[in-house]
Amino acid sequence: MDKDMKVIPLIPLRGITIFPYMVLHFDVGREKSILALEEAMLSDQKIFLAAQKEAKIEEPDEDDIFNIGTICNIKQILKLPGDTVRVLVEGESRGRLKEYIEKEPFLKVKIEVLEDKECVESQKCEALVRSVKKSFEQYTKLSGSIPVETVITDDLDSPGRLSDVVSSYLMLKQESKQELLEAYDVEERLEKLLEILTNEVDILKLERNIGAKVKNKIDKVQKEYYLREQLKAIQEELGEEDEDKKEIAKYKNKINKARLPKPVKEKALYELDRLKNSGSYSAEGGVIRTYLDWILDLPWNTETKDNLDIKTARAVLEKEHYGLEDVKDRIIEYLAVRKMSNSLRGPILCLVGPPGVGKTSIARSIANALNRKFVRMSLGGVRDEAEIRGHRKTYVGAIPGRIIYGMKQAKSKNPLFLLDEIDKMSNDFRGNPADALLEILDAEQNNTYRDHYLELDFDLSNVLFITTANSLETIPRPLLDRMEIIEVSGYTSEEKFHICKDHLITKKLKEHEIDEEKIKFSDASIYYLIDHYTRESGVRSLERKTSSVIRKAVAEMLEKDKKNIIITVNKVKSYLGPEIYIYDKADKEDKVGVVMGMAWTGYGGDTLPIEVTVMPGTGKLELTGQLGDVMKESAKAGYSYVRANAYKYGIDKEFYKNKDLHIHVPEGAVPKDGPSAGVTMITAMVSALSEKKVKHNVAMTGEITLTGRVLPIGGLKEKSLAAYRAGIDTVIIPKDNEKDLFKIPKTIKSKLNYIIADNIDIVLKSAIVKND
Ligand code: ADP
Repeated sequence: MDKDMKVIPLIPLRGITIFPYMVLHFDVGREKSILALEEAMLSDQKIFLAAQKEAKIEEPDEDDIFNIGTICNIKQILKLPGDTVRVLVEGESRGRLKEYIEKEPFLKVKIEVLEDKECVESQKCEALVRSVKKSFEQYTKLSGSIPVETVITDDLDSPGRLSDVVSSYLMLKQESKQELLEAYDVEERLEKLLEILTNEVDILKLERNIGAKVKNKIDKVQKEYYLREQLKAIQEELGEEDEDKKEIAKYKNKINKARLPKPVKEKALYELDRLKNSGSYSAEGGVIRTYLDWILDLPWNTETKDNLDIKTARAVLEKEHYGLEDVKDRIIEYLAVRKMSNSLRGPILCLVGPPGVGKTSIARSIANALNRKFVRMSLGGVRDEAEIRGHRKTYVGAIPGRIIYGMKQAKSKNPLFLLDEIDKMSNDFRGNPADALLEILDAEQNNTYRDHYLELDFDLSNVLFITTANSLETIPRPLLDRMEIIEVSGYTSEEKFHICKDHLITKKLKEHEIDEEKIKFSDASIYYLIDHYTRESGVRSLERKTSSVIRKAVAEMLEKDKKNIIITVNKVKSYLGPEIYIYDKADKEDKVGVVMGMAWTGYGGDTLPIEVTVMPGTGKLELTGQLGDVMKESAKAGYSYVRANAYKYGIDKEFYKNKDLHIHVPEGAVPKDGPSAGVTMITAMVSALSEKKVKHNVAMTGEITLTGRVLPIGGLKEKSLAAYRAGIDTVIIPKDNEKDLFKIPKTIKSKLNYIIADNIDIVLKSAIVKND
């Protein structure tokens, strides 16, 4: 994402406008807005505040909210009686709403940060600044609000900032405030402000003349306050409980009923006592109320009963997921051991694999199979230990960490808790989140887990934690040692076909409440979707595309009054437009200097053709096609190898003096890196320099050393799938990868001829055509 773009929650404001640098509090009552606040507190406490065009609209839609608003920092949150929350925010900068990312359960938007456009004509600007200051002074005197010196201080030297600070002190109509907010050109803003100020000063002068009326109004407010106080006294006299007392009684009742462990109950009663003494509307009261609600919402003693029947568990896993035999077996074994030892203690399962291969959904199935509640928390991007373990209560706006938050959602103390993306955590000066996780996952310690906010021990020992990761490389070592790794690798087209046919389509039809008889997919259309509209290891985009085909089919049925539809290849084309992916196909004839390599990307395997041409020159080596550093180095190492061994391959040994070599890896838009194209580059160079053709039906992969040894590579399965898809029939792989061959599905293995190579000579012998 661009540097000046942010994705944050949005709260629409009714009747207020917030400027940068302004500190303000307001009350939030709408549920959506409260959820947005919670989300902001869980991430970086930033929220986008934009005014509603009409205050009375309860559920504003895109068109009801102004596009320009303010990115704010949340400074404090207080709970008021009822469901209202009081928030203290500080404006940070202007922002322009670019896109609504989510609308439920709260609004989440993409924001472009708007920087001030500074004045060009400094003299004009200075004149405007002086006039604004003068008018504002008049304004403050007339309105008798605040002394001008407290607003315009000496350090307020930027004209943009000055105009914002002044604007925030004015009592203006919403349109005028919005106009001022929308002016990010500072000169324009100063002009507008001056115009408004002059107008306001005129009005204030007029108002002075009708001062008596104003006085009357103030008297009325005072009278009301006085009467209220009296009423309170009368109620007390009559023995009628006031609101505060009712609230205290309500809490007390809840605490007594909640079956809290003894120390928790004691703490709750102690806090309740403090609430009694602090009064509902005080800041302290709000903090205590929030704390009590947290205690009461947590499942201290509620749990679900486990189903440890292995047969049922197997049946649930089989029903909800296709394939994944290894994974299912390992999970069943794991459960069996747990059943025998009668506890769920033991290593934490970690499901590792590319996105969309079903890690999350199989974890959800395990929860179903065990009859446990399921909660999920993503650790992607978590840097701060406090995000996991909470902030101390003394910290303004503190809330518990995500673990306790998850337990509240689970509503049971023995849920299955999925910790997603543990490889995407990082650490910085605010502590290492991995340390907190170590404690959480440690069966010896986690029965007394302490969240900084709660300051009470919470028992996590009945939780079944499962983690997921895309790769093992970035998981901190101590965490890795505690986990049992289960690899979930990518799917072949056949596997995707079955998943789509038996699961995704059924699931999507059910979601759209459509009878399965009404929309049917031909087998060819499913393969077509897989091969031409998705390129991934998992099935996530396949799921999205299936859903979009179904939606379009429903629309067609309604528009054309059809009872049912069969999805064919042509229908897919007409619904989704032209094919998005066209795979490289192997050349039909042998060529000089063109070799098919294989690559492994985050989306799965792919073929990677490499081309080399030779021309008269001075020994330059040119590399093009967006190659990463490792790949460039591997090309240079290959070049040195060819130079040192030119005599073996019938290459002129002076070639490095009188010939230029150009290595190109087509599809320049896709960045490529890694050492595994080493053998491919040497083969292409040797072919180009010796003018011998390379077999068109061969693909290869392997890292190379300067002495010509072939080293192992990763992703053999994905690479094999890609080669097969491209119509290759012979694949050269490093000797050390021979042990991985068992992971390759039989359907693919039977169609490919694998050549095992431990040095480059074997590769060249197998790939280069002997006699022309
Ligand atoms: P991950 O957590 O690995 O990124 P998800 O669990 O989100 O992947 O899976 C994406 C979608 O694909 C889900 O809807 C899931 O149900 C479906 N899916 C993935 N693998 C399978 C499978 N083997 N059988 C049935 N559905 C699957």
